[in-house]
Amino acid sequence: MTPAVQFKNVCRYYGEVRALDQVNFEVADGEFFSMLGPSGSGKTTSLRLIAGFEAVSAGQILIHGENAHQVPPYKRSVNTVFQDYALFPHMSVIQNVAYGLKVKGVDKQTAAHKARQMLAMVKLENMANRHPAQLSGGQRQRVALVRALINQPRVLLLDEPLGALDLKLRKQMQVELKALQRQLGITFIYVTHDQDEALSMSDRLAVFRKGNIEQIGTPAAIYETPASPFVADFVGNANVIDDALALELTGVRRAGAIRPEKISFVDEAPGNHDTVCVWATVTDRHYHGASTRFTVTIGSDHQLVVIGQNDRAEGPTAADAGQRRRIAWRRADMHYFDG
Ligand code: ADP
Ligand code: MG
Repeated sequence: MTPAVQFKNVCRYYGEVRALDQVNFEVADGEFFSMLGPSGSGKTTSLRLIAGFEAVSAGQILIHGENAHQVPPYKRSVNTVFQDYALFPHMSVIQNVAYGLKVKGVDKQTAAHKARQMLAMVKLENMANRHPAQLSGGQRQRVALVRALINQPRVLLLDEPLGALDLKLRKQMQVELKALQRQLGITFIYVTHDQDEALSMSDRLAVFRKGNIEQIGTPAAIYETPASPFVADFVGNANVIDDALALELTGVRRAGAIRPEKISFVDEAPGNHDTVCVWATVTDRHYHGASTRFTVTIGSDHQLVVIGQNDRAEGPTAADAGQRRRIAWRRADMHYFDG
């Protein structure tokens, strides 16, 4: 099947700034695809190029198999939801939602009818005559969403759409957005710097770093087999073990990563070859309700993070800051980087 969007060696330069440099990826039709990365890594630039608000400096973008070069934004089967929603403040909710149809020349009655249907889809039919200022953040977000969907784009671009919402509402909207995407079968390209969001919502995600993609894969592949120390640390805060420390701990000079939740405090060294066990000084302890996060130092001042689930009375929470404790992890739980 023809991919919804393809980037072929795409570059976008702003003077000396390489916002994107030789970027390649494909988004399948109907896929929920996320772009995850720190601020300034090129995520928004990628969306703006797909939308047609910017032009590539080099390379090609194909939308449903067609070269998008020279195709103006309004002729692309793509629409965008912005972080700040960009609703028209002087228009009612229903006028905002119907706007895209009005611009297309659809008659007023048909447009209003369709806008009501869209509002019902996100359970806002009772809010039709309000103005954006009279809505909560979550309601505004839903209006922005259906306003972008009313023209039935085949691809919806979402740039940190939940960034302005508080944590609880954000979690709820994540579930709603994902359900809506499944129901409509539209391709979603979703930008976020929140790794939890990217892992929980996406079919696949691309991890951006400084204008390049560091890794593309399913959430499980990215989390369990990160391609680089950057991905390991950015997605899930793995402990990156450099090759010198690896040699010290495991006898093998090879850099890798171990997840904080795979390390535990033990009273006695297991004394088998399957487990790495080492003395550590607990330097910090942060209680997070369901879990506790410890910082420990080992060897010549290497810091590691240990996360313990607080599902038992004993266990990892038994460690206190200042203590000398043994920590252990299964050798098989360590992930080695290629090359
Ligand atoms: P992200 O969305 O991942 O935070 P952006 O795509 O917005 O990152 O930006 C990538 C890089 O390109 C940054 O260094 C940013 O400062 C630069 N950049 C983006 N837009 C412009 C512009 N219009 N002019 C100059 N530099 C820009
Ligand atoms: Mg951005």
